[in-house]
Amino acid sequence: MLFAATLTYNVEVNINRQQSTLPQKTFAQEHNIDEQKICKHAKRVVKTLTDKGYQAYLVGGCVRDLLLNMTPKDFDVATNATPEEVRRLFDRSRIIGRRFQIVHVYYGREFLEVSTFRAQVSGSGSSPNTQFNNGQITRDNTFGDIDEDALRRDFTINALYYDLTESAVLDFCSGMDAVEKRYLRMIGDPSTRYREDPVRMLRAMRFRAKLGLEIETDTAAPIAECAHLLTDISSARLFDETIKLFHSGHAVNCFHELKQHGLFHQLFPMTEKELGHDPQLQDFIVGALGNTDARINIGKSVNPAFIFAVLLWRSFQHAVTQRTRHGKISPESIWDAGRNTIFRQASHTTIPKRFAITICEIWKFQSRFERIRSRQIPEFIAHPRFRAAYDFMCLRTLLGEVSQAEADWWTDIQACGPEEKQLMIEKRPEPRREPKAKSRASKSGQQSNSSE
Ligand code: ATP
Ligand code: MG
Repeated sequence: MLFAATLTYNVEVNINRQQSTLPQKTFAQEHNIDEQKICKHAKRVVKTLTDKGYQAYLVGGCVRDLLLNMTPKDFDVATNATPEEVRRLFDRSRIIGRRFQIVHVYYGREFLEVSTFRAQVSGSGSSPNTQFNNGQITRDNTFGDIDEDALRRDFTINALYYDLTESAVLDFCSGMDAVEKRYLRMIGDPSTRYREDPVRMLRAMRFRAKLGLEIETDTAAPIAECAHLLTDISSARLFDETIKLFHSGHAVNCFHELKQHGLFHQLFPMTEKELGHDPQLQDFIVGALGNTDARINIGKSVNPAFIFAVLLWRSFQHAVTQRTRHGKISPESIWDAGRNTIFRQASHTTIPKRFAITICEIWKFQSRFERIRSRQIPEFIAHPRFRAAYDFMCLRTLLGEVSQAEADWWTDIQACGPEEKQLMIEKRPEPRREPKAKSRASKSGQQSNSSE
């Protein structure tokens, strides 16, 4: 085992405990938290709560990231005020969630999450506000004290609280040790905690990939046998978690971690199957994830549709083949292949409609790169979806589906001025006209353009 199993507390012991556990406190001279990095709205929310006599702390990923000298992506506040009490204190706030009630406090177009300290309740469901179904927590609204709240968080590094009045880190679970030595340890019994919420396995992958933490042997061990529990999680929540993984700026690492721990299969079974007999596909996926990481790390925008288009490309191609008759396919059948592929994936991770349309457009545009007629090129380049389709086409060189010369031609034409562009278009050989496929549209008297 990597780090000796020195759990300093035990979840069961703390349930029904008589008195609060005191935290280990680390003051400013002993930690490296730069308060300048703390979002001013988070400071204001904490101050409003403490001025009213409530306890309020920064908690979770923001404290962890500040200690690791990283810039937190969001700030969470934990308090002993109930959701209703928090809501009454902030004009622009609302209570969200049923399963897990929290308050969103809005500032501008963004918001901060304020959660009330929760108590850990055992799997027997002894509180009406906490419900279990086969060991999975389906409702978690039993409020408690800060030390109880710490124990129901997932990993020790995520159970640190920052007290802004004293500039001190409060540690109930040896989280500081885990931050210093960079390991990921589940709070309590890992297997039970994965059963309570299987998404914690995906979170472990993300923290490992993003923070370079070593997953302790005991924390990693039950993942293989618990992986299938992800099928009990709603496909909408799995979509959100997938985006968090692949838009973390560490998507390549996340992909490898998911594969290694048998979790990728739970999210993308069709892709996993394709990967088994197509070694180039892994290069294509890793290439796309690498591009996504690079964009995120220089602050460029990314669209979730792109990654999904990449991951489902092979399945889409098979669906197209199934609909191809005598080497031809109608535009409707291409859309149908796209819809069918997305539908099959959606039982694992939902794909919201706005992304589904973009995914289909990226796929549909691929055939245009080789088949487009010269006069249509300027309009094609100006299309809002062109850039994503172009990026996708460039990646297809890794699959051997597009030659480097072809990809370079499309790169060059975007960089040159209008006259040069015209010259390039004139020099480009016209694609061979193909006989039109019979589609439903052509049967009803309209003409269809094959494969576009
Ligand atoms: P990041 O924001 O960088 O993705 P995070 O740890 O802050 O990481 P959030 O989803 O913002 O993740 O959650 C805030 C905190 O809430 C976590 O640090 C953790 O303490 C707690 N938490 C979140 N999800 C779970 C979960 N599934 N089980 C237990 N605790 C959780
Ligand atoms: Mg967070």
